[in-house]
Amino acid sequence: MKKVLFAWALCIGCLSPASAQHNFPVKKTAAEWKKQLSPEAYQVTRLEGTERAYSGKYWNTHEKGIYSCVCCGLEIFSSTTKFESGTGWPSFWKPLKATCVLEESDLSFDMERTKVTCSRCGAHLGHVFNDGPKPTGLRYCLNSVSLNFAKEK
Ligand SMILES: [Zn+2]
Repeated sequence: MKKVLFAWALCIGCLSPASAQHNFPVKKTAAEWKKQLSPEAYQVTRLEGTERAYSGKYWNTHEKGIYSCVCCGLEIFSSTTKFESGTGWPSFWKPLKATCVLEESDLSFDMERTKVTCSRCGAHLGHVFNDGPKPTGLRYCLNSVSLNFAKEK
């Protein structure tokens, strides 16, 4: 029986993206998210949009502090791992904790990318690439509009 269940779980796993089957602790309806978020933030976080490069508020932020999810407030990235990527999007080489984000394959637009999602509410944050700086070699390329920055006091 165990084997059958395992095979079933594997099969479901390959059919639907991880975020779709993930049971996020924070759940809201589309109407509730629309009420809470700006139209831009809704488009990016709930409909997996991307803000235009250099259009966001944080790509050039150098102050010390914490970046949290605009939807649920989960603290996700720290200024200590932010770096100048030259892309026009805020870029980090590591999340605050590995458990803050979910990463899954994204094959949209004929590109093979890895999507980064808030692990508490499922907000789309951006993508992660393998061309980042040391020590991780990762580049978390995020949308400013998905984040809220709180300056260190
Ligand atoms: Zn969130």
